[in-house]
Amino acid sequence: MITVRGVKGLHLKISGAPSLETIKLGRPEHVGSVPFKIPFIKPKLLVSTGDHVKIGTPLFHDKKNQDLKFVSPGCGTISDIVFGPRRVIEKIIIRLDSNEEYEKFDRLNKNDLQTLSKKNLTDLLLQSGMWPLIKELPFRGIADPDTTPAAIWVNLDTCEPFLPAPEVYLAGKKKLFDFGLRALEKLSDKVNISASGNGNYDIPLTHKYSGQYPSGDPGVLLYHTRRSSNENRCWYISGQDLLLISTFLTSGTYPVERIVSVGGCMADSVEKKHCITRTGVPIAHLAPRSSKKQNIRFLAGGLFKGYAVHCDSFLGLYETSLNVIDQGDREEFLGFLRPGFNKPSFSRTFLSSINTKDLEIDSGIHGEIRACVNCGACAKICPVEILPQFTFKCLAANEIEEALEHGLLDCVECGLCSFVCPSKIELNGTFREAKQEYRKEQS
Ligand code: SF4
Ligand code: SF4
Repeated sequence: MITVRGVKGLHLKISGAPSLETIKLGRPEHVGSVPFKIPFIKPKLLVSTGDHVKIGTPLFHDKKNQDLKFVSPGCGTISDIVFGPRRVIEKIIIRLDSNEEYEKFDRLNKNDLQTLSKKNLTDLLLQSGMWPLIKELPFRGIADPDTTPAAIWVNLDTCEPFLPAPEVYLAGKKKLFDFGLRALEKLSDKVNISASGNGNYDIPLTHKYSGQYPSGDPGVLLYHTRRSSNENRCWYISGQDLLLISTFLTSGTYPVERIVSVGGCMADSVEKKHCITRTGVPIAHLAPRSSKKQNIRFLAGGLFKGYAVHCDSFLGLYETSLNVIDQGDREEFLGFLRPGFNKPSFSRTFLSSINTKDLEIDSGIHGEIRACVNCGACAKICPVEILPQFTFKCLAANEIEEALEHGLLDCVECGLCSFVCPSKIELNGTFREAKQEYRKEQS
């Protein structure tokens, strides 16, 4: 086993972690699909309002690659299709039947898997809508099925707060996990399994990471271990998504059950748990009491890489956690005179630097956006040793080639540089958009 030590990053002292206890949620009345949050695709609808769909019926495909299908996470009637600005498809809502049916595919056992060709496995995953669970570095879009990656990384955990813990979602599923690994070995000669190794689960790791957030991110692990540029386009998948692929291959049906962690300092204490629920679950179903409160923000996904969702929306295909935090948009009375003992900050000017307790985080930026003061904080914490302040300046001057030379494509979009910047510059968002634009231009 290789130990990868992330030298840079940030030790996050944030309160609101969900307990390892699991709770089985009741069945929601509706589930939803959120096409506009799937990166790099142009969705083309295959259903209309009023249509009846089964679990696994294709709802839309990618206009540029019709083989990339996205399927229904529920069986029932399409009750609404909500469009946003410029006709982007924001959500497809399915009112569930009391008895749900599945689209059926071939079931595989160990022997079938052994004799299955790479092409047949790829076709099966594409047809069933399972393929989009495999993603590709450095752009973090869906893996290109026509290529063979140098390696596939399976990340059991990534140290981002607060994603489901591997000891919870892997409990009793070792055989299923092994089956998934055998399937991935059909797609690449090298499969790496990474985790912090702190949890209690019986999975042999190839890479154990240590260090601060985001040391466990697949991009950071690749940055520290790659030997050639060939590896830049490695694929990656989360441990829980690999279990979904195995469940699909062994059952022949699209699996909808998921473990979703609900955390964040504003989540009601009884809700801060791991919930056994399903793909496309409504946000209000996950945190019913929080959804009635004012001034709170729901983040689908982790605290740093997640995105804000409204309580009438749904968890998307890739999101397995919901974090509930304060909006942080209230004025603090005489805030400039306060010592900031409970203020999460990188700056040592606040007394929170000597507070050892976990602190509450909110989504406010607490100040105006200002010009860069060259404090160097962003460079101190960047896990892939980019100099974010200079990369940002290159992009502001439209010097994309220079930004690439600065290591733009190594950016793992961890959000730390924006978090620590005293001038409130949205570095991470700028880098993410620049990477997306560059990829679009390339393709
Ligand atoms: S540039 Fe910012 S977002 Fe990108 S890896 Fe470095 S710290 Fe993270
Ligand atoms: S943290 Fe912000 S202000 Fe400081 S160098 Fe980086 S971009 Fe400039």
